[in-house]
Amino acid sequence: MEQVINCLRCNRRLKTVKSRELGFGPVCYKKHLQEQADKEFKKNQTTIDEYLGDEHNATNDSKAISQNEQKAFQVS
Ligand SMILES: [Zn+2]
Repeated sequence: MEQVINCLRCNRRLKTVKSRELGFGPVCYKKHLQEQADKEFKKNQTTIDEYLGDEHNATNDSKAISQNEQKAFQVS
């Protein structure tokens, strides 16, 4: 009896031995590897954002709000 193994990504039946070993079809395996690389990249980016801190963003937000308020006063 032949065991049916489906692609972990698109759930289509894998036909080749190599694909069954990988758990992905050849196209899906490339996409899977790319996704893993993107995840690592984003993980590193998040670390940089956390290093810069939230204070920087908060300062920009309050500036933007006060500038809008000033414009509103000038118009009215
Ligand atoms: Zn697939």
